[in-house]
Amino acid sequence: MTQPIPAYIGVGSNLADPVRQVRAALVALGGLKQTRLLRCSSLYVSAPLGPAEQPDYINAVAAIATELDPEALLTQLQDLERAAGRIRAPDGLRWGPRVLDLDLLLYGMLRQRSATLTLPHPGIGQRAFVLRPLLEIAPDLTIPGLSPLEQLLQQCPPPAARVLDEDSH
Ligand code: AMP
Repeated sequence: MTQPIPAYIGVGSNLADPVRQVRAALVALGGLKQTRLLRCSSLYVSAPLGPAEQPDYINAVAAIATELDPEALLTQLQDLERAAGRIRAPDGLRWGPRVLDLDLLLYGMLRQRSATLTLPHPGIGQRAFVLRPLLEIAPDLTIPGLSPLEQLLQQCPPPAARVLDEDSH
């Protein structure tokens, strides 16, 4: 039997009722084959990266333990994105609005760079909407090749991320 590997998934949405999308995605992560959901962060709100004329994002991070290899896990995440109705922009527009974005942030201590998968996720060190929820659920986490989470967050460029007031949703 394969030993389960701890992995962290970044979840984001800014379309089609983003709070519902993120909550549903967290549930769906727990339903992935050979995978167990360990922890979920609070939901966070942040202004969009890139084109400004789009709604704010809702983000969260989940910790899982998985027996899937990294490529198989990424495929599962992309299947969930598709199932949520995400259509990739044909013009390759980056950072456009999206129903669901799932990023494989970390897979154990693995470092790799292939055509399809870079680990740790290349944006992890500069995004408050990833660092804040990570700090909430795994304050002692070490990201291979990077400074401690708290330090990364202090140096992080805007946009900031704040905890969503769930009572208002
Ligand atoms: P995005 O538009 O952010 O969803 O980018 C998805 C693309 O990034 C896909 O083509 C993935 O193959 C690639 N990718 C590379 N590394 C990662 C990662 N760690 N997590 C998610 N997607 C990744």
